[in-house]
Amino acid sequence: MTAPVRLSPNSALDVRSQFPAVGDWHYLDSAATAQKPQAVIDAITEAYARDYATVHRGVYQRSSEMTGRYEAARTAASKLVGGQPNELVFTRGATEAINLVARQLPKDGRNRVLLSQLEHHSNIVPWQLAGYEVDAVPLTPDGCIDLDAAEVMVTDEHRVISFAHVSNVLGSILDAKRAAEIAHAKGALLLLDGCQAVPRLPVDVASIGADFYAFSGHKLYGPTGIGCLWGRYDLLNALPPWQGGGSMIDRVTFERTTFLDAPMRFEAGTPHIVGTVGLHAAIDWVEGLSLEAIHAHESALVAEARAALSGIDGVTLYGPEDSAGIVSFNVDGVHPHDTATILDDVGVAVRAGHHCAQPLMDVLGVPATARASFAAHSDSSDIEALVCGIEQVKRIFG
Ligand code: PMP
Repeated sequence: MTAPVRLSPNSALDVRSQFPAVGDWHYLDSAATAQKPQAVIDAITEAYARDYATVHRGVYQRSSEMTGRYEAARTAASKLVGGQPNELVFTRGATEAINLVARQLPKDGRNRVLLSQLEHHSNIVPWQLAGYEVDAVPLTPDGCIDLDAAEVMVTDEHRVISFAHVSNVLGSILDAKRAAEIAHAKGALLLLDGCQAVPRLPVDVASIGADFYAFSGHKLYGPTGIGCLWGRYDLLNALPPWQGGGSMIDRVTFERTTFLDAPMRFEAGTPHIVGTVGLHAAIDWVEGLSLEAIHAHESALVAEARAALSGIDGVTLYGPEDSAGIVSFNVDGVHPHDTATILDDVGVAVRAGHHCAQPLMDVLGVPATARASFAAHSDSSDIEALVCGIEQVKRIFG
């Protein structure tokens, strides 16, 4: 592990130089997917070029070594969120993790789920598909989930409260501990969609009191196609298997099959072996910097960006002042797709659209927003380029 590096908005170059695909490109779309540091790229390359073999089945040495690395990645991923290795299921991503819980959790006579108005479609549609009635907690004026309202809305018909730990549009940070208390007071479970939190904040499921926690590797500087579901072991091990196949069984006959315990029960088939190696390298990389430092770095950039953008006439900002690494905005009279296209022309990549949060767009009363999102490699030059680009947008549309 590398020594902790202090990040500040103007001294992130040593970090930036570790991202070969960034260079002098102003990549402000890390909330969609993070660019990869060289350490992650090297780990993936070496795993294929030197160490590759299957896991959990081979008796030869390389396979048993790869199995050790697969399980070491599980340990690292569980530790990252403050859990135990046997509580951590590898999935394709956060989407699959939430689908697993929504489909497999017995309803126990409770047919409702309490979500919020800022949820990503990945934390809405799986519940609808699983037959839940959905209630949505409103937001405070600055765009946080209104937990006072949640406390009033939750009833003993709610099986689950499922909230984003950090909003992918507004960057608002949930008071997750209070959300857990609200859920548990009514006998409901708390699932947190940690997709945007895990790359930006230290997370500890034990001190939060969460029941399930979902996140994706690719937003955490790791590869796509690998993600995690952490679940309290008693809950996880009580869920029935959802996909059948190799690696998840204890004994198979034509009459009857018995299954392994969690987490293996939920990992049918050959897994994304090298994905877990890349994820592990990514976890080591963020821990080398420290999530506290990344959070402080991104918070300083958010403050700088919000101050600069609010000084431009006709720019509307969404979300709270203390958002985690994400700034959504609109330029009056300009569709965000046009804003993003002009920004692209000047080398600034922002996301424009509904951000897979259409109900939130309805609440904000806009069809879409533009979104700048930061990462450990971001620095003030990205904000300067963003501001110049927006001035260009205003000149073109002015
Ligand atoms: N939840 C949130 C808050 C997200 O930002 C995203 C990704 N945009 C997801 C869930 C879904 O993640 P994935 O596509 O990696 O499964």
